[in-house]
Amino acid sequence: MATRKTPTRPPAKRSPRSGASPPRRPRTVPDGSAPEPVDDSLAALRDAAAGCKRCPLWKPATQTVFGEGPAKARVLVVGEQPGDQEDLAGRPFVGPAGQMFDRALEELGIDRSRFYVTNAVKHFKFERRGKVRLHRSPNPAEQAACRIWLEGELSRIKPDIVVCLGAIAARNVLGSKFRLMAQRGTWQALPDGTRAFATVHPSFILRQRDATSRHAAYRGFVADLALLLDA
Ligand code: SF4
Repeated sequence: MATRKTPTRPPAKRSPRSGASPPRRPRTVPDGSAPEPVDDSLAALRDAAAGCKRCPLWKPATQTVFGEGPAKARVLVVGEQPGDQEDLAGRPFVGPAGQMFDRALEELGIDRSRFYVTNAVKHFKFERRGKVRLHRSPNPAEQAACRIWLEGELSRIKPDIVVCLGAIAARNVLGSKFRLMAQRGTWQALPDGTRAFATVHPSFILRQRDATSRHAAYRGFVADLALLLDA
């Protein structure tokens, strides 16, 4: 019986100074651009977004806050942009608005961990007032620059249902003619046939001036999200 020759591995190259392998150079990304994903996976898209400099929002923010959840989720939820706590944690929907969203889903008996949650814009835009960072809405150019990441998430996850929270998410997914307060809580169809609906962003509830308005806004939010029970 012939013996098979085992391929031998070439010796590893060593750094002449320390004897250790040379450090990997960080990928340099010029302002106004982003790294190309290395493949078609969601993980590669996330890695590429972490180095994005397509608009100026990356500079003052702590990090890119990409979406999270199952890569094959049936429901994809889109918010506006990360808030102060999300920016620090690097995770979407972990601040007060995310907790409000959780509360509404819990009331409906829906498990959020089945959803993929993300934002239309992946960096936190804010204005500093002393120690506080106040949320500022991303402008149309920033939203347009960031759209490649949301489109990448949608094309990789291919959800059956998209839920838009707030006007910015709705405009980015459902188009500029969509009127949130007139069309909220009604099924819409995306060009590829995916079902979608929009409701207010949970921060809208938190911004109400008094308990009565907060309660009314919350009840409306829950009523819109109840569409998911028949989905
Ligand atoms: S907000 Fe979006 S487009 Fe702008 S730098 Fe961040 S990831 Fe890139």
